Amino acid sequence: MAETRLIRKDALTKLFEKTRQSGRRILAPKAKGEQAFFEEVTSFGEVCLDHVQTRSSAKEAVFPKCEALLRYKFGDKGAVSYDEKPFEPPVTVVFGTRPCDARSLAALRAVFNWDTPDKFYLEREARTTIISVSCTKADSDCFCTSVGGGPGDTAGSDILLTPVSDKEYLAEILTEKGQAIVALAPELFATAGGAQKEPHLAKVAVQFDVNELAKTIPVTFNDEKVWQEQSLACLGCGTCAYVCPTCACFDIQDEANRQGGVRLRCWDSCGFSLFTLHTSGHNPRHVQSQRWRQRVMHKFSYYLERQGMLGCVGCGRCSRACPVDMNLVEHLKELALHGRNG
Ligand code: SF4
Ligand code: SF4
Repeated sequence: MAETRLIRKDALTKLFEKTRQSGRRILAPKAKGEQAFFEEVTSFGEVCLDHVQTRSSAKEAVFPKCEALLRYKFGDKGAVSYDEKPFEPPVTVVFGTRPCDARSLAALRAVFNWDTPDKFYLEREARTTIISVSCTKADSDCFCTSVGGGPGDTAGSDILLTPVSDKEYLAEILTEKGQAIVALAPELFATAGGAQKEPHLAKVAVQFDVNELAKTIPVTFNDEKVWQEQSLACLGCGTCAYVCPTCACFDIQDEANRQGGVRLRCWDSCGFSLFTLHTSGHNPRHVQSQRWRQRVMHKFSYYLERQGMLGCVGCGRCSRACPVDMNLVEHLKELALHGRNG
């Protein structure tokens, strides 16, 4: 399926216009101050690919921060009628994702297609095309290569673009969705010749052995001292979960009045103290160290057991965004050592 072509950087404007004219919504990194955020864009001039990584991930394209699952009205004698409008999410192109973000879709899909397929997630993903751009630079928080990814990894992308000169991108067209984008302006894509992406990719050192970590983390489960020390600074603010491309926790609540209501699904975080609070007042994770342990164990142990993959793609956003500088890689390295040393 994969084909390789070359596209000139100045031709991206035309490809963008053709994509927009086809009726697709386009989300891409947009600069705000010193950071970039995925937002809807209507001209290629708004797109900014200069940042190592966007502050927030692109997961809102498939899993919105807050969405209405159903709407209802109350009639006479308690009768309830439901709004039966078909669910039709917009056909979307996410442009400018980094390879780690593209890879994160597999982790989200594993959750939303697990016991009960979630039509909201799955239909959004089916209508979304991912055009990623390889990383030519990385920072000290990036650790994709430690969790199976890489700066030129193709997993999850429909097209992967790698800058191979000042003027050109190597375009790997990986899926039928990617081919549909190329078909909008095939004249923009030339034969690739012998262009190679590897010399242009960022160098990201492997920082820990993730298979070793998966074995050592469970050993520390009952070692309260370790988790307490690691989580001492944690505020339980949930920022790490909200910027994370793979975090899938949500809460469902009704907002209703006498006429009717709406059932909303909104992002949540296992780092919040209310997340596991029972109506009885009992909270099985009543201190922050238990909540931090849950976050780490879920991504690096439970996910592997249940889904056969990690729940982390090494994007580094949680470490960059944490207001108290909790550094995930440093904690993982410590856990790997601790488990091994008993
Ligand atoms: S962002 Fe930092 S302080 Fe906030 S919950 Fe996550 S680890 Fe704790
Ligand atoms: S846990 Fe942190 S590094 Fe891993 S995917 Fe989430 S935000 Fe990125």
